[in-house]
Amino acid sequence: MEKSKKKISLTLQITIGLVLGIIVGLLLQNNANIATDYIKPIGTIYLNLIKMIVVPVVLLSIIQGIISLKDIRKVGSIGVRTIVYYLCTTAVAVTIGLVFANIMKVGAGYVLGEGELSYTASAAPSFIDTIVNIFPSNAVTPLANATMLQVIVIALFFGFGIILAGDKGTIAGNVVESFAEVSFKIMEMIIRISPLGVFALICPVVASNGPAVLLPLLKVILVAYVGYIIHAIIVYSSTVKAFSGISPFKFFKGMVRPMMFAFSSASSVGVLPFNLEATQKLGARKEVASFVLPLGATINMDGTAIYQGVCAIFIAEIFGIELAFTQQLTIILTATLASIGTAGVPGSGMIMLAMVLQSVGLPVEGIALVAGIDRILDMGRTVVNITGDAACAICVDAMDKKREAKRNKIAG
Ligand code: ASP
Repeated sequence: MEKSKKKISLTLQITIGLVLGIIVGLLLQNNANIATDYIKPIGTIYLNLIKMIVVPVVLLSIIQGIISLKDIRKVGSIGVRTIVYYLCTTAVAVTIGLVFANIMKVGAGYVLGEGELSYTASAAPSFIDTIVNIFPSNAVTPLANATMLQVIVIALFFGFGIILAGDKGTIAGNVVESFAEVSFKIMEMIIRISPLGVFALICPVVASNGPAVLLPLLKVILVAYVGYIIHAIIVYSSTVKAFSGISPFKFFKGMVRPMMFAFSSASSVGVLPFNLEATQKLGARKEVASFVLPLGATINMDGTAIYQGVCAIFIAEIFGIELAFTQQLTIILTATLASIGTAGVPGSGMIMLAMVLQSVGLPVEGIALVAGIDRILDMGRTVVNITGDAACAICVDAMDKKREAKRNKIAG
């Protein structure tokens, strides 16, 4: 009782931090430098602490998860289900983005000003490079650079190695177990200061994104957010309900904390500790969540896919380019692949947008038009990204539990 009281109050504290951050940000709009010089560093320290603990948590919790699954084939079947869920929901997400952007005529009414078009796209990696880059040539550098996909691969190999080593791997397994617990405790300490962290992250964003930046692109923001909300409500509610029986209300209520943190930090990777906690409270087993979520924070970006669909149509409309049906299908494919290559850090979806635009011959310079509001779009898409990861963890866990129950029944 005591414990749950305390937890509710932390969520409330984070909400207060978020609301206060927005209010103070609005008040500081004419003195945005106060927010960026004095408040932003606190947010940066907080985000640094989260980033510091994310690599040990992901590495150790995946290894620990694999050891407790005990069976390489089982890891494989969970992995396949996870990837199928991620790819299908992302394809649905881009489609939703495209449909709403087309119906709501996202580019209508926007007047292209002079000198607005100077964006040099930094080269997005090709699909093959993305695949090759998953496999590290060094077991330490990815940990130092927090290259999450590579960290996951290292964790998988060590996990499998420990299982295959049998008795001789027991000590390694115990060491992992012990350090994993230590990292979770560190994570809890950091989470306790989230109300302050959330305040300090959101305040400078609001202070420096005043009406002058937002108003001309209000329609893009509106269409993207409609897409985000529709996707979250329809896709996640229905899959979570269908596979695990959890009601949409319970699911979203359980997700409030990670969603708020995603909104203020715009970093899927930073949200991982919150997401691990929330999904387990919603009933997902730790060994499944600690495998599915880090993978999702790295490759599953439904919100980013919606944003890319909306921006592609916006840029096409502004430049008076008619996109054929087949070109829109190409966008679905490239945006789904681009989401795999999008890192779970602020702003990376905008870099991958270049790849999507290029795939259908749209002018990359168009990104300059939406760059000014990227943070606002990023906050929403990150919320969707991490909610998708959590929904997948719950669904895959439920599927696996059913499979186990069936097997036990047959065996019994
Ligand atoms: N910020 C997003 C995330 O961390 C990625 C993006 O920029 O789209 O999930």
